[in-house]
Amino acid sequence: MRKGQGGTADYLVASCANCGMINIMPRGRTDGQQCADCGGGPLILLGFGILHKEPCSSLQVQIEADTRDIDRAMAKVKELQVELENTSRMMQEIGEKL
Ligand SMILES: [Zn+2]
Repeated sequence: MRKGQGGTADYLVASCANCGMINIMPRGRTDGQQCADCGGGPLILLGFGILHKEPCSSLQVQIEADTRDIDRAMAKVKELQVELENTSRMMQEIGEKL
């Protein structure tokens, strides 16, 4: 096992004494850590860990956005456009009558 800084063992593996959940933490951020599952502890160090990397041939990103406000704003803009066109037409008709 390589333990050196910048080596492959970048994670510490610990077991929560309270709930038994295995916690895996970056090596540099282990002080004062509590269990990520139950919020308790203490965490009992089991050893070093390494993450297995899966080859990544594609990346899919899905974004969910609430567009209701935008849709409402666009509807108001369209209403305003119609109002402005009507007002412009009325002003033109008044101008033609004078
Ligand atoms: Zn726990």
